[in-house]
Amino acid sequence: MTQRALVLFSGGQDSTACLAWALDRYEHVETIGFDYGQRHRVELNVRIETLAQLRNQFPAWAQRLGDDHVIDLSVLGQISDTALTRDVAIAYEKNGLPNTFVPGRNLLFFTCAATLAYRRGLDVLVGGMCETDFSGYPDCRDNTLKATQVALSLGLDTKLTIETPLMWLTKAQTWAMTDALGGAALTRLVVEHTHTCYNGVREALHDWGYGCGECPACRLRQSGHAQWVKETASPS
Ligand code: ZN
Repeated sequence: MTQRALVLFSGGQDSTACLAWALDRYEHVETIGFDYGQRHRVELNVRIETLAQLRNQFPAWAQRLGDDHVIDLSVLGQISDTALTRDVAIAYEKNGLPNTFVPGRNLLFFTCAATLAYRRGLDVLVGGMCETDFSGYPDCRDNTLKATQVALSLGLDTKLTIETPLMWLTKAQTWAMTDALGGAALTRLVVEHTHTCYNGVREALHDWGYGCGECPACRLRQSGHAQWVKETASPS
């Protein structure tokens, strides 16, 4: 049976790498994004541009890339208290988690994605969660997502697979994966069009992309890129 995928696509580096991974692997790929009252609308804007660039620059993938769905999850901002939806400085809480943590966010995202996938006849859900470089978010862990796959498959009485291609990769390896999937053109697309910065900064373009360079997301992206450049430089 041909597998048809739905990629959780935020417009960030990780979900763009996952989208390329899915386009390389599945004949039909759709995307889903969530509007949950993010502090910065830039994420929702760049995802449209990133999809357009993928379509323009990769004709073979364009044939596989189907509909994009944006779901209003503003309810998340109403029921949780987090630095992603409020204008407060990013800090670490007593429990060791950063205040960018939105409790249960990925569980909610996957449940919504599964409901949409059911309607659209898609049987693989793809997400960019990662345990290697992760910020300690418990809903990004491999076991959480395996349990979610089982719960959704049982609850919808359909076989759903959750794929997380970045789960065990470092950020440097994510850059390498992007390069392997789409070469320099895809790497450039990720640098110029995806957005990772928690502070929504898009003024200056660095070699690793746009961002403030200070927030945890920028630092991860920056150091991963530096590591990847170092590793790929030919030894002299
Ligand atoms: Zn930043």
